[in-house]
Amino acid sequence: MTANLERHKYDIVVIGAGGAGLRAALEAREAGLTVAIVCKSLFGKAHTVMAEGGAAASMGNVNEKDNWMVHFRDTMRGGKFLNHYRMAELHAKEAPDRIWELETWGALFDRTKEGKISQRNFGGHEYPRLAHVGDRTGLELIRTMQQRIVALQQVDARETGNPETNIRVFAEVTITEILNENGKVAGAYGYRRENGAEVLFEAPAVVIATGGVGKTFKITSNSWEGTGDGHALALKSGANLVDMEFLQFHPTGMVWPLSVKGILVTESVRGEGGILTNSLGERFMFKYIPDVFKNQYADNEAEADRWYIDQDNNRRPPELLPRDEVARAINSEVKAGRGTEHGGVFLDVSKRLSAEIIKKRLPSMWHQFYELAGVDITKEAMEVGPTCHYVMGGVEVNPDTAAAVGVEGLFAAGEVAGGMHGSNRLGGNSLTDLLVFGRRAGMGAVAYVKSHGANPVSDSTIVKAATRIAAPFTRVGGENAYSLHQELQEITHNLVGIIRTRAELVEAIEKIADIRKRSANISVTGDRMFNPGFHLAFDLDNMLLVAESTAKSALLREESRGGHTRDDFPGMNPTWRQVNHISSFDGTQVNIKAQSLPVLPKELFDLFDVHELEKYMTPQEIAKGGSN
Ligand SMILES: Cc1cc2nc3c(=O)[nH]c(=O)nc-3n(C[C@H](O)[C@H](O)[C@H](O)COP(=O)(O)OP(=O)(O)OC[C@H]3O[C@@H](n4cnc5c(N)ncnc54)[C@H](O)[C@@H]3O)c2cc1C
Repeated sequence: MTANLERHKYDIVVIGAGGAGLRAALEAREAGLTVAIVCKSLFGKAHTVMAEGGAAASMGNVNEKDNWMVHFRDTMRGGKFLNHYRMAELHAKEAPDRIWELETWGALFDRTKEGKISQRNFGGHEYPRLAHVGDRTGLELIRTMQQRIVALQQVDARETGNPETNIRVFAEVTITEILNENGKVAGAYGYRRENGAEVLFEAPAVVIATGGVGKTFKITSNSWEGTGDGHALALKSGANLVDMEFLQFHPTGMVWPLSVKGILVTESVRGEGGILTNSLGERFMFKYIPDVFKNQYADNEAEADRWYIDQDNNRRPPELLPRDEVARAINSEVKAGRGTEHGGVFLDVSKRLSAEIIKKRLPSMWHQFYELAGVDITKEAMEVGPTCHYVMGGVEVNPDTAAAVGVEGLFAAGEVAGGMHGSNRLGGNSLTDLLVFGRRAGMGAVAYVKSHGANPVSDSTIVKAATRIAAPFTRVGGENAYSLHQELQEITHNLVGIIRTRAELVEAIEKIADIRKRSANISVTGDRMFNPGFHLAFDLDNMLLVAESTAKSALLREESRGGHTRDDFPGMNPTWRQVNHISSFDGTQVNIKAQSLPVLPKELFDLFDVHELEKYMTPQEIAKGGSN
């Protein structure tokens, strides 16, 4: 079985070629280690290319009052103080350097009149903070790092005669297993998507950078790759997931035509002045400003409109509230019968900006609506509604090294890692999260490999991984992966969606368990060549673990916070703020345990007005005033 196997040996294997994976790989390669980058899609096509609005970093180019402390505060408020404070701190402090570094590598950001990197407004950010390239920022991020990888390969070509001596990309390869030997990571196993041929990577350190889980849901802005593979790979190899109940439903996805339902309408449309109205023409967001945000958001149209001209003396428009608030508000308007014909609300930027500026600042949005819906957004409103966009929960990691808790040699960065964004991510914080923690994962993996050395993979481990890949072909007349996937998406959409209840979550958990049982009997017809049914069999297994973890964590959390809303527990509860939910997998089912959140150190505690903290924390926590 192992004789003809394609085998490779590297110091570090990075699974994923999005922003986080590429940044980790660059760090490792520049430290002199050998690196394999493995990705399901073509190189350059990772989900990160879809990121539109920009990358948040407090460079202070547009408003010099911005700095890491303001960014840290915004991030913690956005996450409703459930964030791992150390991740939010490192992110806020290091994001500007990561953007400037990208520029030195050739990224061409839009500029201010003075020639600095331009920064735009976004929901939840106090100052204009998103470095951007029109609305194609993710593409520039990927292009720049790809170019840097190619440049390093050219160095290798000159010095060794082989461009792939130290860094090689394995595109269209799906990893199905993280291999462990003697309780430590020993490599990764997978197959080539084109022909199903199996591939073994031996490496003492693996960085998971596989992105999100959106395809677990029926309506999503995520690309086809977002099947939660990394979340499941980590669980199966003995790592934990943290706070999987928190999913971000972006308030503005396209609601029609049906074929493109869910595709994202970037938040930049609201950042550039787009307003939300219901079918009665009411600018409804003024009704939905929660108490915790009353000081920062305008409660009348006149002030909200003045903010676009004078941000120092006016409060922000409520369209720029964090995403969870806006998504819930839209959901409520539609449920109250004030939605549009296609079940959304209107988003209009045409009344504030000229056609020329819209086409310059939002070129992809103009094109997307014109081509897909026949709507010219320079003249008419868009119809939008919530879409499953981002998973805040993910692999539990050490904030400084990105090492996965519980498994030696395993690291995780980017959307697959948890903790950074708490219960809700601010727009723009992901792209800099990828850069900050991608780099840290690379550094962490390098340090680990240097101190631990190789960990060879045994034949019996290889045989087990190979047997699992062959299994769906050995069964005849079993379940169909496509039907089970559709069933799963209906369950998550209807029972684990934006608004949740105890009864629905209990029902979801039972139904997911039933699908899991039936999925053990999936059979695949045809052979391994270009066989998407074969690929889905493995993706589905991952999505089932993600869905189980989400539903079980959501059932236990009896409060509403960020991307988790319980109809039966509508308010935020300060006692629940002290709790993280940790998912682990025992080989049969996902188990959830409560774990105390690390306490905010005094120097970070003191960055906030104590009266603001009183809205989130218990009197005992306030009295303690931080941990040291
Ligand atoms: C439409 C849209 C717009 C967005 N705009 C913004 C924005 O403006 N600003 C912002 O900060 N955030 C934005 N986000 C969020 C942000 O784009 C993502 O969170 C981020 O790009 C994720 O990057 P990543 O590196 O973690 O993973 P991804 O970019 O998702 O890459 C994952 C990689 O892992 C690979 N992979 C997955 N599973 C496997 C496997 N089993 N084997 C091998 N390879 C595998 C994939 O092929 C891919 O290469 C947006 C998201 C969407 C959907």
